[in-house]
Amino acid sequence: MSSGRYAPSPSGDLHVGNLRTALLAWMFARASNRGFLMRVEDLDRVREGAEERQLADLAALGIDWDPPVVRQSERRAVYKEAVAGLVARGLTYECFCTRREIAEAASAPHGTPGLYPGTCRRLSDAERAQRRAERPAALRLAAGVAQYTVRDLLHGAYTGPVDDLVLVRNDGVPAYNLAVVVDDGAMGVDQVVRGDDLLASAPRQAYLATLLGLAPPVYAHVPLALNADGKRLAKRDGAVTLADLHARGWSTADVVATIADSLGMAARDAAGMLAEFDPASLPRTPWVFHPPDETGRPGI
Ligand SMILES: [Zn+2]
Repeated sequence: MSSGRYAPSPSGDLHVGNLRTALLAWMFARASNRGFLMRVEDLDRVREGAEERQLADLAALGIDWDPPVVRQSERRAVYKEAVAGLVARGLTYECFCTRREIAEAASAPHGTPGLYPGTCRRLSDAERAQRRAERPAALRLAAGVAQYTVRDLLHGAYTGPVDDLVLVRNDGVPAYNLAVVVDDGAMGVDQVVRGDDLLASAPRQAYLATLLGLAPPVYAHVPLALNADGKRLAKRDGAVTLADLHARGWSTADVVATIADSLGMAARDAAGMLAEFDPASLPRTPWVFHPPDETGRPGI
């Protein structure tokens, strides 16, 4: 069955921006008669109890998903197998660069900020042997293209750069991009709805999918929630989680209604939002959330 998904990292509680993106992912999937799956991205930065609280908050909003919940920490053997296949095909190389070296190379005259310039792809065997003795290597994909085009329900055909992305970090942990692509393929996810801060990484993920013999999903990168300063909403911005908002007198229904308002919807609950859902009428600009003060009044 084709499915959509939501994939939280259990590093803390979800904030209203995360909850809004989850509701959107759920609506996109259910409105197109897809399954809806939950994947916990717990390869690192796990906080005790966060997964349980996140799933409870999502369920409280009215989001339902099809079991089982998938946890990346239980799938290391699958990532290892995918990497081994790429290694066997000669599509990888070891990278010994530090963060600082990559930043310096990317800011050089011919570099592009944020893109790995391929430094270690050109190492000789002798240089590689020497650097192995100095520090552990990350494993990178030897990308065969410089850019790739994905289909996005909100952004249309989106073309972006593909660099030699990291597949396995130098601490041995499967890289985010690899795990996401392998999991979406294995879970039958053919629709990926997430924040538009990840739009730029979609072309490299879709390209990696094709190398693994997987069909790239269709994407919908939705506008993020911002704070009053126009920065991405974060925990430090005040009362932004469901628990925080409850403490300020907001009911769960108040939170859902606020999210519905932010999407220009008249419905007051998740089921009503799903019935009213129309991707074409979604706002295309970020949502600025003003956390309520101690009295529960929305801030300005
Ligand atoms: Zn390198």
